[in-house]
Amino acid sequence: MKIAALTMDKVRDGLRAREFTAEELAREALAFAQAENPKTNAYLHFSEERALAAARAVDRRLAAGEDPGPLGGVPLAVKDVIVTKGVRTTCASRLLEHFVPPYDATSVARIERAGGVILGKTNCDEFAMGSSNENSAFGPVRNPAALDRVPGGSSGGAAAVTAQGTAVAALGSDTGGSVRQPASFCGVVGVTPTYGRVSRYGLVAFASSLDHIGPFARNVKDAARLLGVIAGRDEMDSTSAFAPVPDYEAACGGAVKGLRVGLPKEYFAGLGGETADLLRQAVRTLEGLGCAVEEVSLPHTEYAIAAYYIICTAEASSNLARYDGVRYSRRSPRAETLSGMYRLSRGEGFGAECKRRIMLGTYVLSAGYYDAYYLKAQKVRALIARDFERAFERVDAIVTPVSPFPAFKLGEKLDDPLEMYLSDIYTITGSLAGIPCMSVPCGTAGGGLPVGMQILTRHFNEEGMFRLAHAYEQARG
Ligand code: GLN
Repeated sequence: MKIAALTMDKVRDGLRAREFTAEELAREALAFAQAENPKTNAYLHFSEERALAAARAVDRRLAAGEDPGPLGGVPLAVKDVIVTKGVRTTCASRLLEHFVPPYDATSVARIERAGGVILGKTNCDEFAMGSSNENSAFGPVRNPAALDRVPGGSSGGAAAVTAQGTAVAALGSDTGGSVRQPASFCGVVGVTPTYGRVSRYGLVAFASSLDHIGPFARNVKDAARLLGVIAGRDEMDSTSAFAPVPDYEAACGGAVKGLRVGLPKEYFAGLGGETADLLRQAVRTLEGLGCAVEEVSLPHTEYAIAAYYIICTAEASSNLARYDGVRYSRRSPRAETLSGMYRLSRGEGFGAECKRRIMLGTYVLSAGYYDAYYLKAQKVRALIARDFERAFERVDAIVTPVSPFPAFKLGEKLDDPLEMYLSDIYTITGSLAGIPCMSVPCGTAGGGLPVGMQILTRHFNEEGMFRLAHAYEQARG
């Protein structure tokens, strides 16, 4: 069995033909993932017992002649900011190093109900803050395509396991690009659904108004199937949408002739090098499929990074206040007074990037600055969302690069947080607008470094997005 090349269909067919049982597959996939992991450090820990129990449940359903579910027996991984009952969830932070959640995230429960087998939890930037996975308290992840390079972040581990073949698909989280950017760097598909499409219940909060759970997979159809499983209203998350969930997989295969595709001029203006060449080539492929390509404008793009880093740090400073050493986070053994316990526990527990954001966020929310920063950023956010609404009056989808450059070397941008923040210049606008967007591989730059193309579309049109991505993927071959 070639674990590294499995797709969801191959798992389904193999189980049906009795080539293997779900338990055999789970054991083999775990052994393979454990053996390969030292190369990338993409998994933080494995959940053998839980994986085997889930696999046995699939085998029992199969033996009884029942449908094992859309993910029946599929080996999957989950970013370690998504809680798993009885399985450590660290957020790649010292503060939560030993935290074992008492409940499952809705998306995790839905995966297992659909027959999915969760092998383990993946590495990421601490509390999902970063663009390179170098902010993990448990060491960086290396990019499977080039081991001296970053996998992107913050969901670097989830992207890496999918690319490495140590899971068939994975769940990540995206606040400003953390699914799409690592997907692009590692050469896999990564999807950020409409805000509210997938329940955030059990996703450890970073910036609640921007946080999304999204799937990684090695092809568009698998990503569509995984999204279909986790999407939909959840009573446990009041911001989850009531909108019915269409059959996303069925959308893969539809025709895209006549579809109007917009290229925002602000995104292509400064773009050069091989990324620009690959994007232009991808656009020609779309034209070859019969798409009508035209230029559009998203005039407020230049304010996106500034607005994002005000909003996300403000929300983070408030969300991270709960790690006080009293409840579920690590308590400093050196503390002798109450305030000392707060100070030392947080001081020892949080890494530099989290501290930077807590300070920035506290500042922009403080009395006297609230209107100047936070409120202003929210207004800019509304303008960015309106840019997209206007563009979608003319086009069905927008195509852009995911990142200005392919995966960079480990350590290369560590000393310059501002330069690091620019990694997300093309992904942050979609996050601020809450629209569905995804990265689909469009080739490799020099040295075999993967490059992704971003597709964005209007709220709740994941179907249309998958249709276009799938047609492109097939045409590219
Ligand atoms: N790189 C961005 C940040 O550091 C996005 C992170 C994310 O999407 N979780 O905020």
